Amino acid sequence: MLEVKNLSKIYRAKSKDGVDTKALDGVSLSFAEKGMVFLLGKSGSGKSTLLNICGGLDSPSSGEIIVKGKSSKDFSQTDFDSYRNTFVGFIFQEYNILNEFSVEDNIALALELQGKPKDKKVISELLEQVDLSGFAKRKPNTLSGGQKQRIAIARALVKAPEIIMADEPTGALDSATGKQVFDTLKKLSKDKLVLVVSHDRDFAEQYGDRIIELKDGQVLSDVSKTEMEQQPISANVSTVGDVLCIKKDAQLGDQEFEQIKAFLRSSKSDVIIANNENDVAKFKKASRINESGSKEVFVDTDESAAEKKSYRPEDSKFIRSKLPMRHAVKIGASSLKSKPVRLLATVLLCAISFTLFGMLSTLNFYDSESTFKKTMENSQRDYVVFEKQYQGTRIGYTSGIKEYEYKEYLPGYFSSSDIQSLSANFGGGIFGGVSTSMEYNIRPRPSIYWMNDIRAAAYIPDGNPARAKVQGEYPKGEGEICISSYAAEMLFQCKPLTSDGGQIDVSSAIGLIGHTVIIGSKEYKIVGIFDSGIIEPKYDGLKTDSEVNYALLSEFESALSDGMH
Ligand code: ADP
Ligand code: MG
Repeated sequence: MLEVKNLSKIYRAKSKDGVDTKALDGVSLSFAEKGMVFLLGKSGSGKSTLLNICGGLDSPSSGEIIVKGKSSKDFSQTDFDSYRNTFVGFIFQEYNILNEFSVEDNIALALELQGKPKDKKVISELLEQVDLSGFAKRKPNTLSGGQKQRIAIARALVKAPEIIMADEPTGALDSATGKQVFDTLKKLSKDKLVLVVSHDRDFAEQYGDRIIELKDGQVLSDVSKTEMEQQPISANVSTVGDVLCIKKDAQLGDQEFEQIKAFLRSSKSDVIIANNENDVAKFKKASRINESGSKEVFVDTDESAAEKKSYRPEDSKFIRSKLPMRHAVKIGASSLKSKPVRLLATVLLCAISFTLFGMLSTLNFYDSESTFKKTMENSQRDYVVFEKQYQGTRIGYTSGIKEYEYKEYLPGYFSSSDIQSLSANFGGGIFGGVSTSMEYNIRPRPSIYWMNDIRAAAYIPDGNPARAKVQGEYPKGEGEICISSYAAEMLFQCKPLTSDGGQIDVSSAIGLIGHTVIIGSKEYKIVGIFDSGIIEPKYDGLKTDSEVNYALLSEFESALSDGMH
């Protein structure tokens, strides 16, 4: 059923100066349909590699495996997967059974992986096969190592594999529990091929039908067990191999004694004669002499003696396996039960790291200027006021004694490079020159509503929306000024005087166009008035109130200076 031809496996060196490992070196073997075959050899001799390649868990560097007449050269990747899933049942040193599931559920899971229903009868039959009837409801942590391993075997049997492969299945067990596992495997080998990797020669000789010994990736020896029948010398005396047996209660004649003497003389080493019932039983067992007196001996394997079967292509058709979703969820969720702290810590760490990642990426990609522009667009405002401020400390002294000290923000001048960078960032032409130092004195105001200074002057270039609403003209050169509608109204309300002390005769703020004002020590001709927008009526109280509402006044001042007024 299974054949390997000229298998080689080379593990390439990981680094340049490392050496390649030849784990298998031209191994050819042919396995019978059933029986227990041991792969024996020292650690590193290639046992696991050979088993894994035979089981389709690994692929050879060269050579082929032939399963039921189909060569691995004609295998697709899915063929390999399916071969593993239908033909081969694996048993590993670690039992790989799920501790969260009962024995029954462990087997049921394997059933469902094969697309078979969770059938109690099937499960109890499987448990019976591994001599664990009645263990269905037990949790794995209440079982011994040998029992767990037999659960693993039961699970492997679910797919009714034709081959069972076990890599050091008793490696983690003591010899007593190991024996139970081998007993079970031996029972199964009556109608399956059981391939066992081991380094325990005693077990191999006791249980193996065939022992293949590997050394450095090559087959060192390949022997099969046969029964050597007793050769009778007389009615009471017989030999089997090097053993001479005398029947119980035998009345030996002279001739028989002579034969016994001859046997003793031919011996090249010590001879032990025992007649204690216990010792004889032990000896028979040790030298594998069975009830009928035949002795098990190993002779070179004759592969051609095994009956050769011929296979049809459909014999090597393999079925697929699938993991039902709810079990995937259950396996995942089981960690919640067994390792809740770890799971929580993982969840917490994930949450923290995602948050940090989010923050980092936000900070990294945050562009204050474009965010600012977007905000401007969204708020649908047409202007925004930039202020340059310095934090300063004001300290007052009287006669050399410090009286007070406080921090304050002081307005600063925009330098021409400030203006350039602002206009580069926010659109050329929006910013002109800005000054905060334009003060002028006017006559006593009719009310505090009318402020007596102009905070700023700006050059409003072509294309700026603010230019659209100017009455009169735009300033064409130095000495010409365009004032806000608020400033114009203020000048009108204050009834400004001419430079020689007369009253200017204007009937409305618009009439100021064409007149000249003196700001500081400079003369400016008012050539136009731009619409600085509506001032909210809530400030109207400031026009007449004799009781000054200072909170409202302060709000009004900010509204004026934050706008175009
Ligand atoms: P055994 O099972 O008899 O102990 P293995 O088949 O595991 O031996 O290994 C045979 C040789 O191949 C060893 O020298 C081992 O170091 C080497 N080998 C096995 N697996 C790998 C691997 N994945 N990568 C590199 N070398 C490996
Ligand atoms: Mg190994």
